[in-house]
Amino acid sequence: MPLPLTDDQRATLRAVCDTVVPSIQRTPDPTGHWARKASDIGVPEAFEQMLESMPPENVAGLQELLDGLDQQHFGQHTQLSREQLLKNVSLLGPEAAAGVGALVGLTLFLYYGMPVDQQTGQNPNWATFGYPGPTVAPPQTPKAFTPIAVDGDTTLEADAVIVGSGAGGSVIAATLAKQGLKVLVVEQGDYYNESDFAQLELKAYQEMYWRGGPTPTGDMNVTILAGATLGGGTVINWTNSLKTKPHVREQWAREHGLEGVDGPDFDRHLDTIFNRLNVNDRCSDFNKTHQKMQQGAEALGWSYKTILRNSDPATYDPATAGYIGFGDVSGSKQSTQKTFLKDALDHGAEFIVNTFVEKVLVENGRAAGITGVGPNGPITVRAPRVVVAAGALESPGVLLRSGIGGPAAGDYLRLHPAWAFLGSYGEDMQGWWGTPQAGLVDEFSNVEDGYGFLIESSQYAPGLAGSALAFTSGEDHKEQMADFRSGGSFIALIRDHGHGRVTLDANGQTVPWYSLTDPIDVRNYQRANEALIRLYEVTGAHTIAPLAPTQLRWRRGDNLEAFIDRAKRLPPRAGGIQLFAAHQMGSCRMGNDPQTSVAGPYGELHDTPGVWIGDASAFPTPSGTNPMISIMALAHRTAEAITGVTETPDTALAGATAK
Ligand SMILES: Cc1cc2nc3c(=O)[nH]c(=O)nc-3n(C[C@H](O)[C@H](O)[C@H](O)COP(=O)(O)OP(=O)(O)OC[C@H]3O[C@@H](n4cnc5c(N)ncnc54)[C@H](O)[C@@H]3O)c2cc1C
Repeated sequence: MPLPLTDDQRATLRAVCDTVVPSIQRTPDPTGHWARKASDIGVPEAFEQMLESMPPENVAGLQELLDGLDQQHFGQHTQLSREQLLKNVSLLGPEAAAGVGALVGLTLFLYYGMPVDQQTGQNPNWATFGYPGPTVAPPQTPKAFTPIAVDGDTTLEADAVIVGSGAGGSVIAATLAKQGLKVLVVEQGDYYNESDFAQLELKAYQEMYWRGGPTPTGDMNVTILAGATLGGGTVINWTNSLKTKPHVREQWAREHGLEGVDGPDFDRHLDTIFNRLNVNDRCSDFNKTHQKMQQGAEALGWSYKTILRNSDPATYDPATAGYIGFGDVSGSKQSTQKTFLKDALDHGAEFIVNTFVEKVLVENGRAAGITGVGPNGPITVRAPRVVVAAGALESPGVLLRSGIGGPAAGDYLRLHPAWAFLGSYGEDMQGWWGTPQAGLVDEFSNVEDGYGFLIESSQYAPGLAGSALAFTSGEDHKEQMADFRSGGSFIALIRDHGHGRVTLDANGQTVPWYSLTDPIDVRNYQRANEALIRLYEVTGAHTIAPLAPTQLRWRRGDNLEAFIDRAKRLPPRAGGIQLFAAHQMGSCRMGNDPQTSVAGPYGELHDTPGVWIGDASAFPTPSGTNPMISIMALAHRTAEAITGVTETPDTALAGATAK
C-alpha cells in the first residue's frame, strides 16, 4: 500500500495519537501538561512524515493496522474503549503487538522528543519537567575532512579500502596510512561536526544513528542503537572508556586462539588507544543519579568505580555533557574524528561518505576491492586489502552479500542486552546534567563462569524515555511523565553467554535476531533485576518501576521482596521488559575454527585472503565492558598484522604529525 495515507487512515492515526496522549482536565495545570493532546503540537503530521523514511513493508503493516482499527470505528469510541481496543489488537499476535507498539512508541517519542518551535528547537512539554532542550548554539567549527565528491559511476584505486569509519575502522585506517599505504575509507553515513550538534534528540537520531534511531530486532525483542556517521559510534557514544577485563582476554587467547591477547602485547595496544584518546578521570562529575548510585553501592557493600572518559578536560563542560549522545557540542569528546580518522587524514587517507558498501570484490580467491552505492551512482574501489569494519550489525551483511566468510558469518551476535528500572526520588534530579556515564557498579561483572552484569546509568532524554516508559493508559503515562524530573535511571547490562544472529532480508538488508533465553543469561537477568531494585530502595526512591507494559510498581511501604519476585518473572523480550542494545559484537568473529569463526586469530578471513574484520564483530565473545576501547585495541593489533610493522609508543602517537 503506497503513501500517502488515505483520509480514513489519516483520521484514525490522529485518533490513535490523541488516545496515546489525550487531553485530560486537571487543575492546576500550569504548563498545559494535562490539557495538551498529541495533535495540539502536530504529532500526527510528524508521524506521517516519518513514514516516508520507513521501509515500505513496515509502512504497509501500519496502514493495514490503521484500516483494521478504522473498521472498528476506532475514532468514535470513548478514551477508555480506545485504550482497550489497542490492548485487544496487541493480543492478536506478535505482528499486531509490534504494530501497536510502533504506533504508541513513535507517538510518545515525537510528542516528548521533537522540536516544536523551529526557531528555538523547544518542545512545550519540556517545561513540565524542566528539561532545558538545546543549551548552547552550535559553534562555527570548521570541517576538518573534505570527503571525495563522487559523481556518477566511479572507479577508484587504493592500497587498502576500509568499510566503515567507526571505532575499529578508524584505527586501522590511521595505522595503515602511517605506514605509507594509500587508504580510502568508505562510510555509509554523512559527515557532521560540532557546528551540526544542535542537542536535539530527533535530529541526532535521524542524521547520525543506524536506521534513523532506536530500531527493533526482527523479533522485536531488543531495541538497537548504533552510530552511522563519519566516526561511527564514537561520535554519538557516551565516552565510557574501559579496558578489556583479564578473564575475557584469557578466554579470547585460550579458547579462541588469539595469541598474546592475555599478555603484555595487548597491554601495549590498550595503552596506545588510551594515550591517543586522552582517557582521563577529570571529566567524570557525578550528577545526582551517580551520587545515588555511589551511596547505594557503599550502603550495600558493592564495588563502585569512577569511569574514565576520552574527553578533553580543557573543553569539557558538564552543562552540555548530558547531550553527548547527540554529538558533543563542546568538542571535548575525543571521537575518532579528532583522533584516529584525523591521523589517517594527516597521513594522506581519503574519505567517501554517504556510500553504502554492498559487496567485497573477490578475484582468484583473494580480495580485490569493494562495490557500493553512492549518492550519485555505483562506486567501485579496487584494492588488494579490504577491511570490513561496518559494525557488528552491518559487517556480516557485507560478507553475506558477497558469499564469503563461511558458516559463522552473521552468527554469534552479542548485544550486552541492557534495560532499566526507573526510580523516582521526589526531588529534582536533573538527569540531563553531566555525562551520562561517570561511575559504575562492577560488583557483579563475573558472577557465573566469567559472565555477569554491570550497573551503569544512561543519557536521560525525554523522547526515548517517553517512548520506553510503560504505556497502560494515556492518563497513567502522563502521570509518569509529570514525574520525569524526579527520575534516576540505573541500567543493567549483561555479558551475554547466549547469542543472536544477523541475516539478510529479501532486499539484501541486514536483520538482527535476538532472544535472551540462555540459562546463564536468564539467571543474570534475574540477579540484575534484584540488584537494580535494591539500589533504588537503599537510596531512598519513592517508587520503582520497570520499563515494561505493566502496572507493576513499587511504592515505599510496599513489600520489597514480593516486588523483587514479581520483577524477576517479567519476561526479557517483546511484550515484557524493554531491552536495549548499544553494544553489538561478535557477528564475524575471530577464532581458529572456520566452522565457528569467520576470521583467523589476526582478523583475516579464513576463506578469503586480503579481507580483514576490523570492528566489534571480530570479538570472539562479548567484552563484558563497554566495548569501544577493546574494539580499538583489537583493531590496532589487526592493523599491525596487516602492515607487519609493530608501532612504538612514539610512532603510535605520531598521529598529529603529517608525513
Ligand atoms: C548511544 C550509545 C552510547 C555508547 N556509549 C559507549 C560508551 O560510553 N563506551 C563504549 O565503550 N561504547 C559505547 N557505545 C558503543 C560503541 O560506540 C560501539 O560499540 C562502537 O562504536 C562500535 O565500533 P565499530 O567499529 O564496531 O562500529 P561503529 O563505530 O558502529 O562504526 C561502523 C560504521 O560503519 C558504517 N557502515 C555500516 N554499514 C556500512 C556499509 N555497508 N558501507 C559503509 N559503511 C557502513 C556505519 O555507518 C558506521 O559509521 C555506545 C553506543 C551507543 C549507540
